Amino acid sequence: LEAKLRRNERLAALGRMAAGVAHELRNPLSSIKGLAVLLKGRVAEDPEGRRTADILVQEVERLNRSISELLDYARPEKLQTSTIALHEVLEKASTLVGVDAAAQNIRIVPSLTLDNDLVEVDEDRMNQVFLNLMLNAIQAMPDGGELRIVTEREEGWLICSINDDGVGIAEENMGRLFDPYFTTKSDGTGLGLALSAKIVEEHGGSISISSRLGRGTQVRLQLPAVT
Ligand code: ADP
Repeated sequence: LEAKLRRNERLAALGRMAAGVAHELRNPLSSIKGLAVLLKGRVAEDPEGRRTADILVQEVERLNRSISELLDYARPEKLQTSTIALHEVLEKASTLVGVDAAAQNIRIVPSLTLDNDLVEVDEDRMNQVFLNLMLNAIQAMPDGGELRIVTEREEGWLICSINDDGVGIAEENMGRLFDPYFTTKSDGTGLGLALSAKIVEEHGGSISISSRLGRGTQVRLQLPAVT
């Protein structure tokens, strides 16, 4: 609990900083990107130059993603909730990652058979959570595999698990997954899980992760059910 409180404090501080910093960075970044694309056109003949310009554009895009994620912390805490079926939120998110999944030979296998799976959620924010989790699963399966999405009911809770048979997570990293900026990816921001946990906690729920290195990962999300 103490770790959780510390994390929330850190996230709140991040949020206050984010809005200001983001505005300062956005404009020069879009100039840099525009100029990089221009440069790329100019050096089209030179493979080395083209590679360099590509990296420049990619890195600017990465910075833009980081800024968007930072800004999410700065958004007002107040959720815009409505009552909606969990499977609808999940289906929307799976459709959005469908192209990425197919490109990597990943089959999305939904098992969303509950009779009543109503939740009261901020649809945009939960969509963002599921996108984060599904993209993580996809990135963990570079050689293809199965992304299984399962919903279950447990007393007053709806449980949704996102399962992959990907690379898994090393034991020594398990304790840091939800830390802002913890990433093992060369192009990661390390904000996906921190932000997702924060959003789910704002909904009165929680996220937990279990994994076996080389076997796969299960992310289990628990939300209050609407009765
Ligand atoms: P990012 O995806 O930008 O790295 P996240 O906060 O979403 O940031 O994830 C943090 C880290 O947790 C990842 O870098 C990765 O090491 C690990 N991780 C998260 N989801 C998975 C998964 N499904 N399989 C393997 N590792 C994962």
